[in-house]
Amino acid sequence: MKKPARTIKHSIKERRKKKAMIKHNIKRVQGTGRKAKLLCDIRKMRGVRVFDPSKARYGARIASEPMLARAKEYVLEILEKNKKQHAQTGKPTVLEQAFLDASGEKVLRFAYGRRMNAVRNAKFTKKRFMGKFRTDHGYADRVKIELNEYAPYTEKDLQIVLLHEALHYFAGRARPGNPDLTEEVEHHAMSLLGDRDEQIDYFHKHWNVDILHYSSTVAQRKRRRTDPNWGSKILLEA
Ligand SMILES: [Zn+2]
Repeated sequence: MKKPARTIKHSIKERRKKKAMIKHNIKRVQGTGRKAKLLCDIRKMRGVRVFDPSKARYGARIASEPMLARAKEYVLEILEKNKKQHAQTGKPTVLEQAFLDASGEKVLRFAYGRRMNAVRNAKFTKKRFMGKFRTDHGYADRVKIELNEYAPYTEKDLQIVLLHEALHYFAGRARPGNPDLTEEVEHHAMSLLGDRDEQIDYFHKHWNVDILHYSSTVAQRKRRRTDPNWGSKILLEA
């Protein structure tokens, strides 16, 4: 049966609207060169699940070499996957997009080979983690990654720490000038990817919100979802 004309007109309009929305979304994810809008919604900060912590603290061990070997395998797999995906699609992967968004750069270089080597050679050490550095978990420079031999880790802790250190010095500016991103930009990218420690810092710094002790009602969350000015209001209050 033929549909009445009004419905068809309406549906064409709807379709156009949807198309425009999709177009808009695509534009937004393809590195526009603008700095990522400050994100007030924790659910937007879930690019990948790799930073998700384990639910249980069972089995934390100090400097377990087999555990480190497994963590290396895990991180190398993530980097390898993204490298391949970029080569195949020619588009930024979720991992790369986080750095584009955080830095506001249009083009970045990604040091897959160098960081994968650093991961392969990562080792436990006591030397770097004396005194006030005793509670740090990891250290990274351009070529090496070192992990705190004093700290107890669960399987997942070690994966997260290793991935975190692997993502330092991972992205660099392609335009002339200083190629290094600042640590703050790198940490912002990691928070977008779901690194919990960095999310806590990010919310504290930019939103004055203690996300660890933050609760909201369903009505508040609905308002946040539907009100486009919600973020700016909070910023004014803060
Ligand atoms: Zn860091």
